[in-house]
Amino acid sequence: MNKPDPIIILGEEKDYDAVVDGYAGIEKDIRTNKFRYREIWDGFLPPSNGEEKQVWQMAYNPLVCMAPIYFDDPNKPIGQLDYFVYVINLGRDSRPHTADKKDKTGIHEQDCPVCVNNLTPRMILADFSGFTFTPNKFPYHNYSSLLVSKDVSKEQDTPTVEDIKTLMRFSILTGQSVFYNTFDAGATIKHPHAQVVDPEEIKSRGKQLEYPLLRAKREKIARGIERVVDYAIDCVVFDGRDAPFRTYELYNNLLRKGHKYNFLISGRKIFVFGRNPYKERSPCIEKPVGTYELMGIIQLGNVYERKPDGKEAKLITDATELFRCIPPERIAENLDFACVGLDSFIKHYERKSA
Ligand SMILES: [Zn+2]
Repeated sequence: MNKPDPIIILGEEKDYDAVVDGYAGIEKDIRTNKFRYREIWDGFLPPSNGEEKQVWQMAYNPLVCMAPIYFDDPNKPIGQLDYFVYVINLGRDSRPHTADKKDKTGIHEQDCPVCVNNLTPRMILADFSGFTFTPNKFPYHNYSSLLVSKDVSKEQDTPTVEDIKTLMRFSILTGQSVFYNTFDAGATIKHPHAQVVDPEEIKSRGKQLEYPLLRAKREKIARGIERVVDYAIDCVVFDGRDAPFRTYELYNNLLRKGHKYNFLISGRKIFVFGRNPYKERSPCIEKPVGTYELMGIIQLGNVYERKPDGKEAKLITDATELFRCIPPERIAENLDFACVGLDSFIKHYERKSA
């Protein structure tokens, strides 16, 4: 098996405004980009026929099962939201859980897992405006990748407006969701990066499930600015050309007050939320809450139910069983703890529109 050649992302040369406004022919480019991306991504999967795995291949073939978990409480404990999605990925359990104990050399390329695992073996899907598009070595599910900056001196927590614009152009042109984590709020690697996930891969029984956060009801607070209501976390949604600048402005205000933040880019829209990294615990796994989780996608590997004596553990892979272990009230509580109320951060938008 040969390593696939990088693809060209159609429309990459178009400027930001043209992409956001939708240049003539953009729909066709998006279709082609999606098709080519999935095809090349598949080319990096490890062999399933017993052949030896190559250094440029992913660590495993993601084996997932997903199920929407509906709330049967008519009062819907989490606003109007009617489900969370559980993703069980048996493959991901085989990823390394602790960082290599190797001594740090002080040289980025030798210490950084993205450089060592992805860039040195040239796992390259495409180049995109100062970023390298690379498959996630330990994929959440099919078509989960990373966009990593070519400039490793940049700080993860402070992307520029231009960086956010690039990520938005990428999301629009490829139809992929791009989510961005800060340190202590999901990010663990020092190499500046964003996560890329295929929203069409979240599905159950062949039917696509929209991210619960994206389904939540929104209220308009000014032109191009909405606020999510009836959801477990407070979230502002910026739409259109000004979205990257407004995201930049909001995250800076959050950082200034000692918070962290995440954002999710879904085409022309950017969903921004503040994080309280020191206050949170994820349901059952006792780890910080992931950004995917805040969107309503609860990602799990093998889950073990502890027996009361704490010794024996039973493997649970059935989503209904999982639901019994992790009630929605617990999830809502965790998400609420993990996030920041945005009242004081968005007041000035409301004033402007009044
Ligand atoms: Zn690196």
